[in-house]
Amino acid sequence: MNYQPELIGGHMALDLVNTVAWRLDDRRRVDRLADPGNLRKWLAATGLESSARATAVRSAAKDSLMQCRETAYAVLHPLAVGEEPRAADLAVLRELIEDAVRTASLVSARPLSWQADSIVDRVRLSVWRFFEDEDLNRLRQCGDDGGCGWLFLDRSKNGSRRWCSSADCGNRARARRHYQRHQAGASA
Ligand SMILES: [Zn+2]
Repeated sequence: MNYQPELIGGHMALDLVNTVAWRLDDRRRVDRLADPGNLRKWLAATGLESSARATAVRSAAKDSLMQCRETAYAVLHPLAVGEEPRAADLAVLRELIEDAVRTASLVSARPLSWQADSIVDRVRLSVWRFFEDEDLNRLRQCGDDGGCGWLFLDRSKNGSRRWCSSADCGNRARARRHYQRHQAGASA
């Protein structure tokens, strides 16, 4: 199917994590970054690389992006479902943050503002700043029970967002409830 990146996470760090579709379903899981064309689409959608100069991303960069993504996910997933991250995963995140600090330049002191050049460095910087700047109490996992597993920041006022996309997972859940009601009605 033709991949169209959906940036629903509310932050680039989450949109990176969400480049794995159906993460919680072993049979359906798809890594969008594995395909060079899809990787380019994602980079263009996030503004990390303009489509005009969509040169091939070196496979080393691709591997680093995937590594960065899994480092972030290993800590974000437990936080999203109300659990504590494992110490080993925090240690790997610490290394990512060290790399981010080392490769970024400080462009302003008030407010403290960072900038990085290469795609991988910019993504690392983004992941670090996500943990530093965002309210992780608002971090959620999509409520889909079919294995979606996407993460997002619930920025709604009353904290009521349940789905990665109400048009997608939300709709499927509504359809399933509708079907179950009718099944229950038919057997009654
Ligand atoms: Zn979902």
